[in-house]
Amino acid sequence: MGERRNPRRAYDREGREIAPPTVGSLRDQGETTASVYCHARGCGHHAIISTDRFPADLPFPDIALRLRCSVCGSRQVVVMKDMAAYYARCTSGAGPATGLPPSYRVIGRDVPWPDRQW
Ligand SMILES: [Zn+2]
Repeated sequence: MGERRNPRRAYDREGREIAPPTVGSLRDQGETTASVYCHARGCGHHAIISTDRFPADLPFPDIALRLRCSVCGSRQVVVMKDMAAYYARCTSGAGPATGLPPSYRVIGRDVPWPDRQW
């Protein structure tokens, strides 16, 4: 009680932190990309990034701590599950890159990392 809540964590009704998935646990499920948004005022840049470069034990939401917006330079970055890749996997039943739109460009895989940014 009275603890500061981490904005990158989910909490249950009693206020207990719900352990987030790690990069590694999602990787085991075939999840190798993340959907990233910049929340800086007037920016709203969105990108799909590869999670290949992140350590397996890193909590998935904490990827955001390692990123900076490549458009505006803000660190107000929010990381979410890449639902387009998720649905593509569900419908194709194959690997993570199958069934994605041709315009789908993954930073760190189809597009080089703008170093330490996205
Ligand atoms: Zn931005």
